[in-house]
Amino acid sequence: IDRIVTPKETQAETTDDFEVSLRPKTLDEYIGQEKVKENLKIYIQAAKNRGDSLDHVLLYGPPGLGKTTLSAIIAHEMGVNIRITSGPAIEKPGDLAALLTNLEKGDVLFIDEIHRLSRQVEEVLYPALEDYALDIIMGKGPAARSIRIELNKFTLIGATTRAGSLSAPLRDRFGVIQRLELYNTEQLSDIVKRSAVLLGVACDDDGAEEIAKRSRGTPRIANRFLRRVRDFAEVMGDGRITADIAKIALNRMDVDKLGLDSLDKRLLTMIIKGYDGGPVGLETLAAAIGEESVTIEDVCEPYLMQLGFLSKTPRGRVATQLAYDHLGFLKDGQTHL
Ligand code: ADP
Repeated sequence: IDRIVTPKETQAETTDDFEVSLRPKTLDEYIGQEKVKENLKIYIQAAKNRGDSLDHVLLYGPPGLGKTTLSAIIAHEMGVNIRITSGPAIEKPGDLAALLTNLEKGDVLFIDEIHRLSRQVEEVLYPALEDYALDIIMGKGPAARSIRIELNKFTLIGATTRAGSLSAPLRDRFGVIQRLELYNTEQLSDIVKRSAVLLGVACDDDGAEEIAKRSRGTPRIANRFLRRVRDFAEVMGDGRITADIAKIALNRMDVDKLGLDSLDKRLLTMIIKGYDGGPVGLETLAAAIGEESVTIEDVCEPYLMQLGFLSKTPRGRVATQLAYDHLGFLKDGQTHL
């Protein structure tokens, strides 16, 4: 997806270390998600006191909210190494075996998009999670035999956008399941200000707030906007990020004052004008606007629901009065003059 507001990492973000450099390293530096942090602090302390590894952890929530960051922090707080991979990257059981046999005692294995693991790989994972062992079948036919390889005790941290997309047997093997929430404007302002300091950019409180308000509750988007707004500040101003510069820059990027972009607007407009405000089913809607239903569900809807623009009912999606007001539609589908 090439939306500026996509919470997925863009090519530039993965290749030039921009995100890595802005990642907080300790739980105390990690802004927001207070409940998750409080719980994790206790689990980490208890595991350390027992001299044990941390129980397996599942983190879920929309992309860009800090699941990878939090996993690296957990490893740091436990004083162990972290290996980062993703569901689609582990193609064969052998790939997983190679990863697992290389882990040292207590290490964290982070698997992003864990709901995309193949069936066969998942089956190898179960005994690894429960008994810290791998059962490998050698040979074929009557000569086949199974050998068991003992593994070092490790912690799996899985990340996924929705806990419900995991198979039940996999989900049951996580001792800790935590949901990350969208951030509020104040928390995102703090994240923007922290990143500005790290990037050496002067940023007014109002400037940070303007960026925060348009970042859809998502730190990755806030950091991306900060970087773009910095370009505008350097070329059009004296390099300082003010509320005015932030507004100009974000308007130019077609991000409206609540952070909606053209896809969000297309979605809401389709519900309002195409389906009389709803209810309309997800798949119908996806086909009508030519977008994948997972993108709508994982990326657009959480934020539109937080804004109170969209509600999910058993019969489908409904646009609320707030959505009509924001887009300038009257309830009968006519546009304000
Ligand atoms: P996810 O794994 O959920 O997609 P990431 O962990 O990659 O998200 O986070 C994206 C970026 O947002 C990180 O580079 C980090 O700089 C920033 N970030 C995320 N959460 C926080 C936080 N709580 N405090 C400060 N920065 C954060």
